[in-house]
Amino acid sequence: MTLLGDAAHLMPPLGVGVNLALLDACELALSTAHHDTVDEAIHAYEKTMLPRSTEMAQLLDGAADELLSTELPDFATADNH
Ligand SMILES: Cc1cc2nc3c(=O)[nH]c(=O)nc-3n(C[C@H](O)[C@H](O)[C@H](O)COP(=O)(O)OP(=O)(O)OC[C@H]3O[C@@H](n4cnc5c(N)ncnc54)[C@H](O)[C@@H]3O)c2cc1C
Repeated sequence: MTLLGDAAHLMPPLGVGVNLALLDACELALSTAHHDTVDEAIHAYEKTMLPRSTEMAQLLDGAADELLSTELPDFATADNH
């Protein structure tokens, strides 16, 4: 058993989830085609997927704060040119 897509990448919806899901799926499919056993294929896939998952989670940590904020931007002082 292994994880891919949202199940492997815990993060807010900031526009990268589908790309990660497709990349995971492609890498898992290629790994399955290039290894003799499912165990070897999953191990090889996870060697790249797990560091990518950690890196993306760290990169997007706190990035959804604005989406969830209850404070409105100050339109009165915004530059409207
Ligand atoms: C509001 C919102 C906006 C987003 N905008 C973007 C965007 O602009 N760009 C972007 O890249 N990503 C975006 N995402 C994220 C993107 O939708 C996900 O990252 C992506 O769909 C993950 O694909 P997935 O196949 O891993 O999961 P999912 O697409 O969630 O697919 C999982 C599937 O499994 C099914 N399922 C669940 N439980 C079971 C079960 N027990 N048995 C059988 N089937 C089951 C579900 O019904 C679902 O069809 C957004 C997400 C949200 C919520």
